[in-house]
Amino acid sequence: PGSPSARLAGHRSASSCSGVQERTLIAVKPDGVQRRLVGQIIQRFEQRGFKLVGLKMVQVSEDLLSQHYGQLRTKPFYPSLLHYMTSGPVVAMVWEGHNVVQTSRSMVGHTNPAEARAGTVRGDFSIHVSRNVVHASDSQEGAQREIQLWFQGKELLNWDCCDQSITCE
Ligand code: ADP
Repeated sequence: PGSPSARLAGHRSASSCSGVQERTLIAVKPDGVQRRLVGQIIQRFEQRGFKLVGLKMVQVSEDLLSQHYGQLRTKPFYPSLLHYMTSGPVVAMVWEGHNVVQTSRSMVGHTNPAEARAGTVRGDFSIHVSRNVVHASDSQEGAQREIQLWFQGKELLNWDCCDQSITCE
């Protein structure tokens, strides 16, 4: 393993934390942006120990959404979901780290805010399923698909966190 000073200098250590780990797509939806929750949501992921490797504000197209939410196309709420998700900018992020997909889902909470536990993003900041503030990929395969859909490869940065070997074995 590299010395702490080597890690601070940005060199890779031989610890299992180095290298590309699991990634997930997190998106602050238009209601979250309007309510100025972006900072608080980013803070939760930073303080948990995850690493931000991509970030952008986007006005999402219906084309992207129809691919992103393709499996919900037959649901009665699908038209209003498209309207909601295109009603304003979205802040899309890619977070990286050990078990990030599963841990993010538990940080974000149940789809329906009424069932989301306090302490989760949805449990703390939302009251209605159609305005639930944030998106988090629900599986590793889904995360890979969504990250490719939302981000170009060059928009994702590989960088060494100086505390990588402290937050993860
Ligand atoms: P999740 O976002 O938790 O992965 P789903 O993939 O089931 O949940 O649904 C995608 C999004 O569609 C939800 O986050 C929510 O914005 C919206 N949605 C889901 N169910 C409903 C519903 N019954 N009424 C309105 N919107 C819904």
